[in-house]
Amino acid sequence: MKYVVVSGGVLSGLGKGVTASSIGVLLKSSGLKITSVKIDPYLNSDAGTMSPFEHGEVFVLDDGGEVDLDLGNYERFLDINLGKNNNLTTGKIYSKVIESERRGDYLGKTVQVIPHITDAIQDWIEDVAHVPADGSGDVPDACIIELGGTVGDIESAPYIEALRQFQFRVGRENISFVHVSLVPVMGPVGEQKTKPTQHSVKELRGLGITPDILVCRSTSPMTEETKEKLAAFCHVSPDAVMSTHDVPNIYHVPLMLESQGLCKILNVNCNNTNLLSEWKKMALNLDTLTEEVNIAMVGKYTDLSDAYLSVIKSLQHAAMAVNRKLNIDWIEASHLEDSWKSQSSDEFDTAWDLLRNANGVLVPGGFGDRGIEGKILAAEYARTSKTPYLGICLGLQVATIEFCRNVLNLTGANSTEFEDNPPYPAVIFMPEISKTHLGGTMRLGSRPTLWQVDECKIKSLYGDGESVDERHRHRYEVNPDIIKDIEAAGLVFVGKDETGQRCEIFELKDHPWFIGVQFHPEFKSRPGKPSPPFLGLLQASSENAS
Ligand code: GLN
Repeated sequence: MKYVVVSGGVLSGLGKGVTASSIGVLLKSSGLKITSVKIDPYLNSDAGTMSPFEHGEVFVLDDGGEVDLDLGNYERFLDINLGKNNNLTTGKIYSKVIESERRGDYLGKTVQVIPHITDAIQDWIEDVAHVPADGSGDVPDACIIELGGTVGDIESAPYIEALRQFQFRVGRENISFVHVSLVPVMGPVGEQKTKPTQHSVKELRGLGITPDILVCRSTSPMTEETKEKLAAFCHVSPDAVMSTHDVPNIYHVPLMLESQGLCKILNVNCNNTNLLSEWKKMALNLDTLTEEVNIAMVGKYTDLSDAYLSVIKSLQHAAMAVNRKLNIDWIEASHLEDSWKSQSSDEFDTAWDLLRNANGVLVPGGFGDRGIEGKILAAEYARTSKTPYLGICLGLQVATIEFCRNVLNLTGANSTEFEDNPPYPAVIFMPEISKTHLGGTMRLGSRPTLWQVDECKIKSLYGDGESVDERHRHRYEVNPDIIKDIEAAGLVFVGKDETGQRCEIFELKDHPWFIGVQFHPEFKSRPGKPSPPFLGLLQASSENAS
């Protein structure tokens, strides 16, 4: 087993996850089987209870793990399926050690960060690295370990220490340390500054880890002079200083690292497979797309696109498949509401203009009642104007509420998530969900959806098969008692769960594409393998665009 440890310095948001995933792509292109571990040094057990405002989207795995969005990068870049243990958090490691202490595993000993926590971290990484991830059932050959946060944080100290020790456990020849840092460009002549990186490497070396490779984020390619300076001050070979400068799309990142000789440094032959030539094709294709398609995203975290990262990626995968350049028009759902008009008529008008000009509408998942009425209006607009619509999880629920209110004339139809006792409960709390605990208690992970009809638009895109497996994350469902009435009016629940009761997919009759899914198809979309609900949306929206 080979390990690549990716740490970060200077500041967060440098694209450490993309760098780590890209290194994974290079290793994979040499024929190795890859897995990854993301370390998040916070005390939460998992990302499930964290706000997308703070940490971006919560990514969901097949096994129901609610994890950091970087795991999504790994799954997409490497086309693998990870499990909840691939995301290690301080919450998880302390719980494990404290549980062992209560069992008496350390009887007689004082339990301490060193060695008990640091040993537990190393054991965890080693165990997870050996779990098959690419569907072949084979143990991986290499594991990318990404350490969240920046070097020097108090929280990450036990992990750095564990990784320092780990090099002796696995052998120095089996582990590479990559440090991702920033090279800012200053002044009128655009001087590339190396000092922040020097400091951060000094800190890392002070903690006992000497990086083998430096990856430096900058706006433009790093000059040879800058690379040499960094090499001299950071005790790294000049060939091992890589520049990750701005590129038109992220598919260029593995190619950019390869062209600077990273495969040679990692001692792998990246031409053993045709993976990199596929990436090259993808990166260049994406750069040359000119015909546009406009998708309106009606959500509540529209200032922070990381909150919808996988949805954006899935839209891009589907747009590439239909050869269109994707434009996402972000619409803050509450701006569509009448009440917003008095607050800011400009924002209200802009939101409606964007919606009316869009070729397709997407309402993504969400929690809480802010912007709900705006999302309902967006669903109504898409239904009545025959604009292609995809509703994901909450997006399915709001479209159902809209249909009940405006087609079935059930005034006051609502979800019990937004109103305690609505006159007409169209969406209700699922009976099996905990009312006392919020962490890890939703209906989570991969579950089957069984087709209820022989033919429909969405089924034809999913291909043959009695059922489809997609990932879930919800507490509420369409009220099973009203499904018959809704179907009689034309909104057909074409996919249901294994009990035949719970709605998973609806499709509206006599509409180019009006689909709602209770699951989150965005977590399984891959470049080159777009997710069917997104593909259908983009196909219909492209037709609508031309
Ligand atoms: N809030 C809704 C529920 O819990 C929708 C969840 C979601 O969109 N992920 O059912």
